[in-house]
Amino acid sequence: MTIVILGGTAEARALAQCLVDERLDVLSTLAGRVRDPRLPAGRVRIGGFGGVEGLVRFLRDTRAFAVVDATHPFAAGMSRNAVAACASTGVPLLRLQRTGWADEPGAETWTWVDSHAEAAGVATEYSRPFLTVGRQALPDFIEPLRNASALVRVVDMPDFELPDAWTTLGDRGPYDLVGERGLLQSERVDALVTKDSGGTYTWPKVAAAAELGVDVVIVRRPDPVQGVERVTSAAAAARWVVGR
Ligand code: NAP
Repeated sequence: MTIVILGGTAEARALAQCLVDERLDVLSTLAGRVRDPRLPAGRVRIGGFGGVEGLVRFLRDTRAFAVVDATHPFAAGMSRNAVAACASTGVPLLRLQRTGWADEPGAETWTWVDSHAEAAGVATEYSRPFLTVGRQALPDFIEPLRNASALVRVVDMPDFELPDAWTTLGDRGPYDLVGERGLLQSERVDALVTKDSGGTYTWPKVAAAAELGVDVVIVRRPDPVQGVERVTSAAAAARWVVGR
């Protein structure tokens, strides 16, 4: 019996490690977006399933006992497909999603927007916006910020062209407060543009912005999928699996 973890996050890797430690058969799946991904413990499968139908086939082929959707809060398509495929196969589904930053001190002073396109519009008001939204969201920023001297940080360089005026940093973290503070200062960043990824892993950039009085423009999370039990930590997800 296989526990399937839809992964691509630090929480997914933590959960895989917990379950492997419990001697369970764990199969983590990754979309394959990152060239050299951090691999979780246990078995790993890389690449999409081919929509809901493909995921249904996969769950049957692997005799999945349970699925934990531990994808990123912004991976809404995968989460929707997981709900549909688990409903159709009767495989229990848990959503593991870290808490967002909306309740953090200072969050009420940030500019909250509903989409990356909207964030791009707000970013045009700044001279040196720092885009930490992930490579997949960058196309929304290209036209509005074509002539702006944006600073961009990505794990893998995009395979599409970025404006000449932009400065691109290839880096994957982890990031600490000292490094983030130094970067915001040395690059004279006047706005941090990010999304509500939540958790502690990418928090130092926001903490550094708050310290330095740099404005924060933040994209709200997509609505969570309904009708699925949710937990916010790998430990709670491990308890759910082991309890079953
Ligand atoms: P998405 O838009 O919800 O997913 C698009 C398609 O990618 C899915 O329909 C599925 O393809 C495939 N896919 C996504 N996650 C998968 C997984 N864990 N295993 C197998 N196939 C997967 O998701 P996304 O925003 O492209 O994110 C892709 C992955 O990167 C996620 O696993 C997520 O955890 C990770 N990630 C995303 C972000 C972000 O900001 N979006 C940030 C950090 C990490 P098929 O339809 O062919 O099955």
